Amino acid sequence: MDYVPLNLRDTDRMDIKVVPWWQWRVEKFGRVPYIHYPNICAVCGDVDPELFMVPHNEWDRYVEPRMRNSILCKTCYTRIKTIIDRNEGV
Ligand SMILES: [Zn+2]
Repeated sequence: MDYVPLNLRDTDRMDIKVVPWWQWRVEKFGRVPYIHYPNICAVCGDVDPELFMVPHNEWDRYVEPRMRNSILCKTCYTRIKTIIDRNEGV
């Protein structure tokens, strides 16, 4: 059985010296199932949007408390900032 992933870039391939150890480990302990849990923008539903960071004080200013642990795409975050800034002082 070939345990070396075939569709990866050369830089991602397992070092050939590690393959025997890896095969032994897989046969002894089994494989760990991998499931990709995508990040989803809480506003528009974009799947795996580009992640970005903003300072905490800015995030707290523009994102309401119940959504602060959510993921927002840059487009939605920028839209939220624009809406809040436009209505500031109303
Ligand atoms: Zn979005």
